[in-house]
Amino acid sequence: MSILAHRLEGVRPSATKAMTAAAAELRAKGRSVITLSQGEPDFDTPEHVAEAGVAAIRNGLTRYTPVAGVTPLREAIVQKLDRENGLKYHADQVTVGCGAKQVLFNALLATLNPSDEVVIAAPCWVSYPDMVRLAGGVPIIVDCTAANGFKLTPDDFDAAITPRTKWLMLNSPSNPTGAVYTEDEYRALGEVFRRHPHIWLLADDIYEKLVYGNARFTTMPQVMPELIGRTLVVNGVSKSAAMTGWRVGYGAGPAHLIKAMNTIQGQSTSHTSSVSQYAAVAAISGDQSFLIPFLTEYEARRNLVVDLINRAAGLSCDVPDGAFYVFASCEHAIGKLTSRGQRIESDQDFALYLLQEAGVAVVAGSGFLASPYVRLSYASSREDLTNACNQIIEACSALR
Ligand code: PLP
Repeated sequence: MSILAHRLEGVRPSATKAMTAAAAELRAKGRSVITLSQGEPDFDTPEHVAEAGVAAIRNGLTRYTPVAGVTPLREAIVQKLDRENGLKYHADQVTVGCGAKQVLFNALLATLNPSDEVVIAAPCWVSYPDMVRLAGGVPIIVDCTAANGFKLTPDDFDAAITPRTKWLMLNSPSNPTGAVYTEDEYRALGEVFRRHPHIWLLADDIYEKLVYGNARFTTMPQVMPELIGRTLVVNGVSKSAAMTGWRVGYGAGPAHLIKAMNTIQGQSTSHTSSVSQYAAVAAISGDQSFLIPFLTEYEARRNLVVDLINRAAGLSCDVPDGAFYVFASCEHAIGKLTSRGQRIESDQDFALYLLQEAGVAVVAGSGFLASPYVRLSYASSREDLTNACNQIIEACSALR
């Protein structure tokens, strides 16, 4: 009898973490590798935020906190959601977890019974389907095409709904495509929700702050206020405030759902670090001017990468509106031969080829349930991005 539980069957390790580990392995062998596989800002946490964490340590705010998070943080989140998103919540409708990831996981664990279905718009973040499986549910993947800007259409959403559907998981700006839903698109999807009152929305807004050019962030319950009673808004400070390692994310939704999520958290991690929670208060309520240089830099990097990647033989991409990823089609590289005579059969082969030949780590689209694509994170210095893209161009030109 295996020591391992059945619930792990079919659950894959994260493709992004696997590629980052493969890059680290090559580096350990002395190869120079540029990592564009990691989904995290390369900036430091803003000074005033870090100082708030240090002050928390010095002031002895280092003990257990309430499971849902300290009151100043939950109040800061309530005010943020009102001020920036026009969403009204009370502090008991907010829960804080170890990153947005734990909040999503708590929500799924708190709501899914065996064979309950969760509709996931793909390309999607690598973790969604596996989180659903770990929670005992069934991911129902709906493919969103490049022609539709990788966004879910109301008809495709409607067609995926069954009496067992519990949630739609939607992420805008999107990891991996950078797609940003408009108000009109949300309104059209909202009409489908209206026709199916048993379905809830998991709105993963973690990349909210990272939108460029004319794109504007909005969240579904802002556009369709009637859905607020069956929406969990998930957000956090990891991506916006360069705080991935602090592990602070939050969820806001109906009190009975939040209470159930807190029950799960209370029996698992209890809460995220007290120190991180006080730093997050500063990130959410304090001076936001740190975002200006972040956004200027991300937008310049995005333009740089899009321009260079479109010069690589076999690769093409559109300009993404948000997040810090470029999702490039590698359709025309598939079927080609490497100089060693190996055929590129899939985007996984292609990502491996780029790692070995170009010394650049990217993530194959299959990890995000969309092929043949590769995802490049542009949360790296312009120098690294330029070198990486030039090495990719060279490696692509060597394919026959
Ligand atoms: N949601 C999406 C779409 C993400 O890409 C990520 C991180 O990569 C998360 C949630 C998790 O964020 P956190 O680091 O706050 O757990």
